[in-house]
Amino acid sequence: MAKIAFIGLGNMGGPMAANLVKKGHEVTGFDLSEVALNQLVAQGGKVAKSALEVAKGAEVVVSMLPSGKHVADLYTVEFMAQLQPHAVLIDSSTIDAVTARSVAALAVAQGHAMIDAPVSGGTAGAQAGTLTFIVGGAAGDFDRAKPILEGMGQNIFYAGESGAGQVAKICNNMLLAIHMIGTSEAINLGVRHGLDPKVLSEIMQKSSGRNWSLEVYNPYPGVAENTPASKGYAGGFAVDLMTKDLGLAAEASLDTKSSTPLGSTALNLYRMWSEAGNGKFDFSSIIKFLNQQ
Ligand code: NAD
Repeated sequence: MAKIAFIGLGNMGGPMAANLVKKGHEVTGFDLSEVALNQLVAQGGKVAKSALEVAKGAEVVVSMLPSGKHVADLYTVEFMAQLQPHAVLIDSSTIDAVTARSVAALAVAQGHAMIDAPVSGGTAGAQAGTLTFIVGGAAGDFDRAKPILEGMGQNIFYAGESGAGQVAKICNNMLLAIHMIGTSEAINLGVRHGLDPKVLSEIMQKSSGRNWSLEVYNPYPGVAENTPASKGYAGGFAVDLMTKDLGLAAEASLDTKSSTPLGSTALNLYRMWSEAGNGKFDFSSIIKFLNQQ
């Protein structure tokens, strides 16, 4: 069992750290929030008062922070000097690939291994230990990190070299935003022509318009049980997080001069919806933006 330093015990990191404790790892956490620290103690973990303290003697680091700036600020040479030699560093935050590659290069220069391992599966997946991890880094480092990731997730994918996990993750989320908006447009159009949204959804699920937003996460209230749409768009994956991921996709497209016209449109629609005061609602609430009669 490993001695793990876990930094960022929020909505995702809190339950992920708790799952590592359940697997028998020695987990010490650090977060700026006192509430988050107390929750880890209640789950059987230990806590530290600073990032440098949590790093002391750790063999493995897992970070789950809001953005690239937080990740770059954490992984300093001083922080890395506290770890056991040849430690494994796992950053599971969703951040830009450029920052992911630069912190990994710094870690390698200090004699450690580092992978980017963003996740899919949301807070429910974090709690259930069923997250999907999408990993970028050296193949040998992926093999070393895999047993730790298996303590928090079910599907562990190797995407390629450093930064590849972040690129794959934002490609997925850009596509998700696009098919959520497309699904919302189609259902809204049908409903305005008098169609029952449930019947229309069933028809499209058995036709060529079939997709995940339609089948699993239908944006129209009452079409599927237990979706955010059927619970006032509470919970789920927030508009603000989707806007952040679409911003990362836009940056990545600029880096490589890739055309992503639908990704850019999705970014603008989600940004406008957020600015209208809907940032905390689930991202399927975008259907309401299209249906403001
Ligand atoms: P969150 O805001 O709930 O948690 C972030 C935590 O980091 C907070 O507890 C905060 O106090 C802590 N923190 C911030 N700066 C810190 C620092 N310098 N040192 C220590 N702790 C610090 O966010 P979240 O929902 O857990 O998301 C974390 C990451 O996971 C983000 O990159 C997000 O995009 C990604 N993600 C989230 C979801 C989701 O459904 N929430 C799904 C997939 C990926």
